[in-house]
Amino acid sequence: MSLIDGRAIAAAIGEDVTARAAALKTADLNTSASAVVVPTLAVVVPTSDEAALWYVRSIGRAASRTGVDCRVLHLSEPSEIELRTTLRDLSADDTVHGVICQTPLPAGLSLSEVGGDIDPAKDVDGASPVSLGRLAAGRPAFAPATAAAVLEILRREQIPLTGTRAVVVGRSTVVGKPVALLLLAENATVTVCHSRTADLAEICSGADVLVAAAGRAGLIGADFVKPGAVVIDVGTNPTSDGGLVGDVDASAVVGKAARLTPVPGGVGPVTTMLLLRHVVTAAEAAT
Ligand code: NAD
Repeated sequence: MSLIDGRAIAAAIGEDVTARAAALKTADLNTSASAVVVPTLAVVVPTSDEAALWYVRSIGRAASRTGVDCRVLHLSEPSEIELRTTLRDLSADDTVHGVICQTPLPAGLSLSEVGGDIDPAKDVDGASPVSLGRLAAGRPAFAPATAAAVLEILRREQIPLTGTRAVVVGRSTVVGKPVALLLLAENATVTVCHSRTADLAEICSGADVLVAAAGRAGLIGADFVKPGAVVIDVGTNPTSDGGLVGDVDASAVVGKAARLTPVPGGVGPVTTMLLLRHVVTAAEAAT
């Protein structure tokens, strides 16, 4: 089995993002028309959750490396109206090209609800039901960056998808469902599993491509994996010693899977970079 190097893939995407961000900033030197455009991401943070704050800081670091401006707005226990108004105001701000709302949200609010206040043209993490609907209808839309990262990894690693059996474990709106839609669009035959699925191991063991996105450490053991399968581990589960593990028991599947994304260093870094690529794409479309 060989590990897929997510950091190397992220670095390659980062070069493209950096070049495109720089081109936007120098656009006015070459044409008489447009003013300098700084691709800008607004991150609304309605939480003090440590893992969420760590992720927001990592977006900020990646943004500064690639020339994307990252504006972070911390809201302390916002009301529904305050949060929704903030997302709408940022959507209407011409200097902002991408808007994301970091989870977890205050109790009683859901991302699929408040995400509807993000303009789909700026919905760079696919939070709006409109974006998911467009994805399902095969129309242009930003997919959630994590779902896009799964497909980007498969594409860059030249894993064939047409006619293959793909199994996605997890049916959330931010990962499982959009991953399934994107795999379907690549002509895979897709099965979506979830917490009520019977015979999970048996279904997974028929997969040529297995995407684990359940958020359950070590769920995917050797009996879940077909010999020669490609396994993409989306799960990120904190350990008691401050580390991070995926949903896949890597030591158990090592003799069966052909390829595996590690955690950390797999889907995560690609996700962050694709988020920034979406911001640059949105900025290009707006100019
Ligand atoms: P979620 O809790 O919203 O959804 C989990 C899904 O897994 C649900 O559909 C549930 O039915 C299913 N599930 C739970 N336990 C199961 C079990 N025992 N068997 C089968 N299915 C089961 O989580 P999410 O937001 O979709 O995230 C999933 C995982 O991906 C989490 O670990 C999360 O931290 C991680 N994640 C990683 C990235 C990244 O960039 N690497 C981004 C987003 C989420």
